[in-house]
Amino acid sequence: MDLALLEQTLGSRGEAPYRARQVWEWAARGASGYDEMSNLSVALRRALAEEVPFSTLMLETESHARDGTVKALFRTREGHPVEAVLMRFRDGRRSLCVSSQSGCPLTCTFCATGAMRFARNLTASEILDQALHFRRIETVDHCVFMGMGEPMLNLDGVLEAARRLPDLGITHRRTTISTVGWLPGLRRFVDEVEEPIRLALSLHAPEEGLRSRIMPVNDRYPLADVLAECRRYFELRHRKVFVEYVMLAASTTARNTRRLSRGCSTGRSSR
Ligand code: SF4
Repeated sequence: MDLALLEQTLGSRGEAPYRARQVWEWAARGASGYDEMSNLSVALRRALAEEVPFSTLMLETESHARDGTVKALFRTREGHPVEAVLMRFRDGRRSLCVSSQSGCPLTCTFCATGAMRFARNLTASEILDQALHFRRIETVDHCVFMGMGEPMLNLDGVLEAARRLPDLGITHRRTTISTVGWLPGLRRFVDEVEEPIRLALSLHAPEEGLRSRIMPVNDRYPLADVLAECRRYFELRHRKVFVEYVMLAASTTARNTRRLSRGCSTGRSSR
């Protein structure tokens, strides 16, 4: 739901500011439409249904794997693709993997998203609508920003969305923002994010030469500088940095022919 449009619509109708919070609380608890919002008048529910689409994204397809994983492909209003995944674990965890951009400009060689045309950053509402889609199916308790796109290139939208996730039942300690090492965003994350949102580094190669070959971002922001920033984060915030590493066949890295995954997590959101 476009939360800015919601507030604007309610304001133009002379509704009290708390109405936006009421609508959001219903959505965050998994309501499937305005009709369920019993503390709003019927007239207001009808008006909202006409003026504020319940989601900023249109669901195109949903794929179900045998292990319970669900992958959803959405389209933005302009038709840009956005993927998100619900992972169901045997211990009961329900983890979402959401996208922060449609496409990605960083062109990691193993990544299907990197081969797509970069469209744009997603708004906070578009990120939240991925999560709300799955919240309507069942309760969720973890979220990783490891889908399409580099979250640190869209840090404002990502943080705005992440800060609302507790309303869906996903605490900050169960929210992870991943980066391939986009230093300007990472520096801002280190300096600005006081909530205990977790940080993950998509490493994928331990030395500069190989990393530059498979992740061009490494030419611009070398691993040594990224690791120094991770150490600064640990010293400043006293929080661990999670490291993600995917094992690629040498022939794959050398020839750059197969794109194994879609997203920074290299495999969570597609395959
Ligand atoms: S791995 Fe992440 S940063 Fe690299 S191209 Fe894919 S989405 Fe972008």
